[in-house]
Amino acid sequence: MLGYEAAYVNDSSDKDLLSIAKHDSLILLTSDEELYRTAAMKGIETSLVQGRTEPERLANLAERYNLRLEIDTTISRCPLCGFPLREISKGEAGASVPPATFKVYQSFWACTNPKCAKVYWQGSHWKKIEETLGNARKILDAKRNSSASTEQSQPRRR
Ligand SMILES: [Zn+2]
Repeated sequence: MLGYEAAYVNDSSDKDLLSIAKHDSLILLTSDEELYRTAAMKGIETSLVQGRTEPERLANLAERYNLRLEIDTTISRCPLCGFPLREISKGEAGASVPPATFKVYQSFWACTNPKCAKVYWQGSHWKKIEETLGNARKILDAKRNSSASTEQSQPRRR
């Protein structure tokens, strides 16, 4: 949703994950320390995802990779298949959304992958994502402020 290319895999062996990351030059994000260490030893770019909550984990990743924690629908990708989304008219969305949703919402987006074509709107799931991102931004701001004040309070060395 943030516009970064990502693949979520939870049904593959460690060996397959390492092979995919290496072959496609992807950063392997994992909370599995053993997998993290193996990837690092093999020279695969990897990050150990740490944090007690989803916003904490997101804030940590955003800090490390300088990620924007804002949904910009002009660059959002389909969470299911990774293809770009495009805004569609209410009329176009009509057949793909439940009648109650059609009545309530005015803006819709569709996946541009013809094989997927999933339609999205800013419903409760979207709002929950926005809330998680908002909490992650607060944690990230607090981390940045505390590291900035630490830097200022340290004496300069010559
Ligand atoms: Zn899709």
